[in-house]
Amino acid sequence: MARCTVIGNWKMHGTQTQARDLARGVRRLVGNRFRAVEVILAPPFTAIEATRRALAGSRVRLAAQNLHWQPSGAFTGEVAAGMLRDAGCSHVIVGHSERRRLFGETSRDVGRKLAAALEASLEPILCVGETLDERRRGDTHRTLSAQLSGALKGVPKSAIESLTVAYEPVWAIGTGRHAAPAQVADAHGWLRRALARRFGAASAREIPILYGGSVNPDNAAELARVAEVDGVLVGGASLDHQSFAAIVKVFSTEIPTATFNIRTTDT
Ligand code: PEP
Repeated sequence: MARCTVIGNWKMHGTQTQARDLARGVRRLVGNRFRAVEVILAPPFTAIEATRRALAGSRVRLAAQNLHWQPSGAFTGEVAAGMLRDAGCSHVIVGHSERRRLFGETSRDVGRKLAAALEASLEPILCVGETLDERRRGDTHRTLSAQLSGALKGVPKSAIESLTVAYEPVWAIGTGRHAAPAQVADAHGWLRRALARRFGAASAREIPILYGGSVNPDNAAELARVAEVDGVLVGGASLDHQSFAAIVKVFSTEIPTATFNIRTTDT
């Protein structure tokens, strides 16, 4: 029974050889240990196959970092959900702030991507989070609300068993400045209540809510102890297998104060 989730988002880093070596390193250190933690790696598209091979037979799972909502067609440069399933992915990240901010993805786009992922039996990891300006204006909850309702519009209750939400304040991503425990507790509590309003309290408790934004081995324990934190989405620190494994280890020993009824893995 996985109690929490740790995801490594490698972003646009790594050749196939580098990805293979990094995945092997994670496999060596995480392998079949720390079974309370669901471990997922998200390499760039071109390294999915090399990573898949390096992880074959282990319980570490594969995510893609993005997808297009159409199943196929004249969409040069895009990749469909079915292709990601075929390549061995079980999960896909949708709505990462870098996609929203740098590539103009709207909440509507994110909603279409999420629906396409579900349709193809890919488990979506939905990222939401406010900018520093929005936080300073007191608009954090308003932003989370808009992003959540945009992405989840039309998503049936039956689909939530494969949904993961990641709270990633934009100002904490890649800055070396993680959100304070009180800020994380507030946002995660708000998200849990919003999910409960949409899907009912019992169902909302089944949805893992991860924190992301400058997580590293030194701050992981502090974050793991925050109420309603069911794991982390790790960018920079996931590019070093020892740092990433150290974070996984923290989440296997710290007992998250949140829900323990996170879905079982298939291992
Ligand atoms: C991310 O890209 O989702 C992320 C959390 O990055 P970092 O850990 O580098 O802040």
